[in-house]
Amino acid sequence: MADAKPQDPPAEAPAAETKGPSKRALEKEAKKAAAKAKKEAFKAADQGKPAASKEPADPFKQGWLRGVYNEKPVKEVHTRFPPEPNGYLHIGHAKAITVNFGFAKSYGGVCNLRFDDTNPAKEEERYFESIKEMVSWLGFKPHKITHSSDEFDQLYELAEKLITREKAYVCHCSGEEIFEGRGGKDHGPRSVCKHWSRSVEDNLEDFRAMRDGKYKAGQALLRMK
Ligand SMILES: [Zn+2]
Repeated sequence: MADAKPQDPPAEAPAAETKGPSKRALEKEAKKAAAKAKKEAFKAADQGKPAASKEPADPFKQGWLRGVYNEKPVKEVHTRFPPEPNGYLHIGHAKAITVNFGFAKSYGGVCNLRFDDTNPAKEEERYFESIKEMVSWLGFKPHKITHSSDEFDQLYELAEKLITREKAYVCHCSGEEIFEGRGGKDHGPRSVCKHWSRSVEDNLEDFRAMRDGKYKAGQALLRMK
């Protein structure tokens, strides 16, 4: 302020009392009030309570979903909706879409649409298109659209790593046998199948046979321990 001309009024000139508050002071007051209202609205949304403006409460910031967030309160929420493009979506998918996209949106994050396209025999272009349409129709925009098939080599390597760490095994049970092993009212307690305890070497050899097409679909599968 050293070079201010002497006739310049001081920057924070107090308003003359007789004229009431200056325009500047009024503006300041208004800004303050707006900031306060915004803060209160945020606070209300955070607690899952409706704000004073009767905005509906954010369903993703209360109950079970709030608990999910609190478990790992990351700064950048990143979710994905991973449909298999082998048919049209049904009403149940609306829930998965809304929870994945809505949750990310609520917490200022993003959600990818990831096509789980690892079964080319059953996939058709019209299913890819229809799924994209459905997501958009529900009012969401994917951050990125990705394809699992692009990462097939990496997925394969990770699968071998799981086998090496004894976290996965190749199983030749039928669908019915697998279902029974899961236990339940009619099947008794959960149980492992006879393939569960195979050696790492045996599993790797069999898994590579799967990769090389030595089994037909349904004759072998990689299961997590
Ligand atoms: Zn088995």
